[in-house]
Amino acid sequence: MTRTYRWILLTALLAVAAVAVCPAWAAEKINLLIIDGQNGHDWKATTPAIKQMLLKTGRFNVDVATSPDKKAAKEAWGTFRPDFSKYGVVLTNYCGQPWPDEVKKTFEKYMTDGGGLVAYHFAVAAFREWDAYNRMIGMGWKDNKFGEGICLDDDGKIVRRPKGEGPGKGHGPSHVFDIQVRDADHPIMKGLPAKWTHANDELYHGQRGPAKDMHILATAYSAKEYKGTGMHEPMAWTVPFGKGRVFVTLLGHHVEQTTHPGSATLIWRGAEWAATGKATLPVSPDLKGK
Ligand code: ZN
Repeated sequence: MTRTYRWILLTALLAVAAVAVCPAWAAEKINLLIIDGQNGHDWKATTPAIKQMLLKTGRFNVDVATSPDKKAAKEAWGTFRPDFSKYGVVLTNYCGQPWPDEVKKTFEKYMTDGGGLVAYHFAVAAFREWDAYNRMIGMGWKDNKFGEGICLDDDGKIVRRPKGEGPGKGHGPSHVFDIQVRDADHPIMKGLPAKWTHANDELYHGQRGPAKDMHILATAYSAKEYKGTGMHEPMAWTVPFGKGRVFVTLLGHHVEQTTHPGSATLIWRGAEWAATGKATLPVSPDLKGK
């Protein structure tokens, strides 16, 4: 055996051993940035809960960028400059004052160049004035004059709600409802039960936006008895933005709803997919189908 041959053989064996020992992704963790600081919701409770559940998967490094408070002086925004380029995915738990133009521009470029975004629950109510953000999330908590909307009928057919017609943003009283998977083959949804019972949560309806290029992953039936629309409202979807990927989940009013097994699974797999285009993380063992 020549020296060179021995060397090649050794390298090959080491490569095989490395693959056998480590899952494909273990080599590199995904850097994830949570943005919060203003929100009509209790972000001071939900951000640590989300961070904790993401860290528990072993797949993410998690940083948090907290914006200035609503009452902070204008100058405080001068130091709010998250370096998006360091992250595979950004999870927004933010709904408040517009970001400085420079931050918006940097974020748009980050997404266009292939970044990842997870918009979670009330974050879809943010940035009415920011056109690119509204394209990224597809649709969100806006009135019916803002733009078109999408829902599904009982046959699973997509129904478009024209601008200015039909319900706009809203939800009835919180209640326990079912989540129905609409694309079982999508990487985020693979292996999830076709239907599961979610927590006692707000069921958003009538979301509005440009509603372009949306791929619906899951819906919930918005029952009239709970002041709903009588239609199947999208609860989770994806949207492409340039080379970037966006995942939206409307679930998770508070910690209990956010960390509920189905909601948690959507967040960690959605985040992984937004960063890499794949979802390798397991479904929560606590998630039982119907
Ligand atoms: Zn809420």
